[in-house]
Amino acid sequence: MNNKLILSVTSTTFYLIILWITFVSCKKSSTETPAVSTAKADLTKLPFGGTGSTKIIIRNQGGSAPDFTSLWLCGLPANGAGANNARDWTNADGTWDYTKKPQVGGNVIWNGQFNSIVDANGNRILTGNGLPNHPTGIFPITPGTIAYNYDRNPNIITAQPLNVTYPSLPKEAASPTCVGFGPAGYSLTGSAIYHGASTLGNDAAAHEMLDKYGGHTDGTQRYHYHFPSKDLQDHIHVRTSGHSALMGYMLDGFGIYGPYGENGELLSSKDLDVCHGHKHPVMWDGQMINLYHYHWTYDFPYNISAYKGTPR
Ligand SMILES: [Zn+2]
Ligand SMILES: [Zn+2]
Repeated sequence: MNNKLILSVTSTTFYLIILWITFVSCKKSSTETPAVSTAKADLTKLPFGGTGSTKIIIRNQGGSAPDFTSLWLCGLPANGAGANNARDWTNADGTWDYTKKPQVGGNVIWNGQFNSIVDANGNRILTGNGLPNHPTGIFPITPGTIAYNYDRNPNIITAQPLNVTYPSLPKEAASPTCVGFGPAGYSLTGSAIYHGASTLGNDAAAHEMLDKYGGHTDGTQRYHYHFPSKDLQDHIHVRTSGHSALMGYMLDGFGIYGPYGENGELLSSKDLDVCHGHKHPVMWDGQMINLYHYHWTYDFPYNISAYKGTPR
């Protein structure tokens, strides 16, 4: 046996022992602690935003307040653009199937720059160039691809200077604020988070062709996310148990976490308040703090319904 082989045999034995220990300890703990919900996300039956109880409330068209499981938009632009054909991944019951929806393929590498600091005055300062620190699909969407049949997004991705300042400990406002178009927040990947509607006023994640990270670009040439895909979540932080990790900051400075709650349960919009968040102790700048926060769920309106704090 050469040294390499001995090493490999030794490490195999080591891993087998670790596996056995893990198995034994898991078995033991499962008899001592109540089972935690490990509900798997069902991405095959998602509600379309704008139908039933998942309303898109448009303030300049009469919607004067936010509502549960709905998105409270400040207004719709006059000349909206986007895709509007979701027929091929719509179920008979009127829900949509994420697993059947085509994606924008590709593996385009960007020189993403992003920095988040808390200064001595209690401000959180985000700086960067708006480009993601992961590869994206190919934009404009390539003619001849499956995605092109549904969405002819002609826009490129360019750097977008980012320099925003939030209070590091944001405060809840007396009343919620409606959400506008453009960035509603910034992901820890360095790119923008957009709310759940397109400028056509439909459910963007259900209609527009996104890449595997749940993102695409628009007429402002800004790469941004609509959907918290597993690839995006895992890229930011691979979750093993419990509450999801921080995924970014919304424009009022409150954090947005992935779709799992305090006990590791999968959250949906109905579990959250009219702004799409709730309050309990979360990890915040290295400490557990009882603080309001948003959750990015798999169902409309996905990331924010209205601002709980004061957007910058
Ligand atoms: Zn978009
Ligand atoms: Zn939470």
